[in-house]
Amino acid sequence: MTAINWKEEVQKREAEILAETQRFLQIKSVLTSTEKQEEPFGPGIAQALHFLLNKGKNDGFSVKNVDGYAGHIEAGEGKDLLGILCHVDVVPEGDGWSVDPYGGEIKDGKIFARGAIDDKGPTMAAYYAMKIVKDLGLPLSKRVRIIIGTDEESDWRCVDHYFNHEEMPTMGFAPDADFPIIFAEKGITDVEIRQQPIEGTKGSVQLTSFVSGRRYNMVPDLATAVLEFHSETDIENKYDQFLKDQSLKGSITDKSGVYTLTLEGVSAHGSVPDKGKNAGLTLLRFLHTLELDEQANQFVGYANAYLVQGALGEKMGLNRKDEVTGDLTINVGIMSYNQEEAGHFGLNIRYPVSAHIDDIIDTIKEKSESYQMTIKHFTDSKPHHVDQKHELIQTLQKVYQEQTNEEPTLISIGGGTYARALEAGVAFGPLFPGREEVAHEKDEYMVIEDLLRATAIYAQAIYELAK
Ligand SMILES: [Zn+2]
Repeated sequence: MTAINWKEEVQKREAEILAETQRFLQIKSVLTSTEKQEEPFGPGIAQALHFLLNKGKNDGFSVKNVDGYAGHIEAGEGKDLLGILCHVDVVPEGDGWSVDPYGGEIKDGKIFARGAIDDKGPTMAAYYAMKIVKDLGLPLSKRVRIIIGTDEESDWRCVDHYFNHEEMPTMGFAPDADFPIIFAEKGITDVEIRQQPIEGTKGSVQLTSFVSGRRYNMVPDLATAVLEFHSETDIENKYDQFLKDQSLKGSITDKSGVYTLTLEGVSAHGSVPDKGKNAGLTLLRFLHTLELDEQANQFVGYANAYLVQGALGEKMGLNRKDEVTGDLTINVGIMSYNQEEAGHFGLNIRYPVSAHIDDIIDTIKEKSESYQMTIKHFTDSKPHHVDQKHELIQTLQKVYQEQTNEEPTLISIGGGTYARALEAGVAFGPLFPGREEVAHEKDEYMVIEDLLRATAIYAQAIYELAK
């Protein structure tokens, strides 16, 4: 058999791929509330799911709608199942677009719309990849399923429901992140820590309130503290000096003995806390130099003992590390304090594949006790990892190298991709190395050449993995 020219097969279908991608992008598939049971995430998302399933049916695939939560398009025969996990929901368009966010306009070699790169463009690439394999009449020894999620941007209720009712693929990939291949993702836990209020305590300085950060997975870039002094103070000079020493921006204002301090940090994603400057932790470092009332002193003391300058968990006794996914990281995304309710911390911890959630939670519990802090609640998304020698990875590496002539590097990340919904799954594209990240941004686009390249890569990958 002569080698298949996958790029040529894609080129033959270029006009159709672009026109159909435009139609798909013109459906505003944003999560909305709904009364209809068969449309759990609203009419826009339902319409996008139907669009794909109808397309699959018309092209002769077998299709299934799983209660409006998800669906699949299937080809081939055999015991094993190859899954390609995509999603049709998009985040709201937001403001500031220079084109219609649901127009699918093509200009300068790019196709523009909310969902162009995340994840409707790549979904169409995967669809046409499967169609090319079918059109060529290539024999497959496995079944291949495009699994269509509808709630990836919110709560993943789509994959939860789908895998409660449908078979887990033997292996698979998700075209919903970066090329070449993301093979390892850290575990992610959000831990909420609460301080027990202490009654009737006094100090020479009263911390009235403290606020910094609103989201677990972001480094806070602003912190505000309100302090009350019952005697003379040189706090203004002291704070100015602190800001100067740290080369930071901030302010202090005085209203008859009540001082409001603000501090500006640098925001960053929660998976890379050291890339930012945590405004809250920095201000807590300053507060640690004051003689605070007992309750506030516990709150500030706890932060300074275990969290300030401890982004790799070294102060909490959580410096876990391995070769696959690197260091554990702690982002303190939320900090708040007021006199009635006492203190509150929200930690976003990313842990390597060799670490264990129970060990992490027990360690935090143990450290927190002496400061009257307790873990109120935590969530956990387990680390995800496919062995480098696994057939899936070996095959995708070979395909990527052949199609692009680039090194098929394996990437390990702190964030979580949709691939973790699969038991043996990796993220495989669609963003090529060096391309601008525009998912969730205004004027989201996908480079048309990349859309076509990805289609050829996915077609060969499907064939090689399922032949
Ligand atoms: Zn996505």
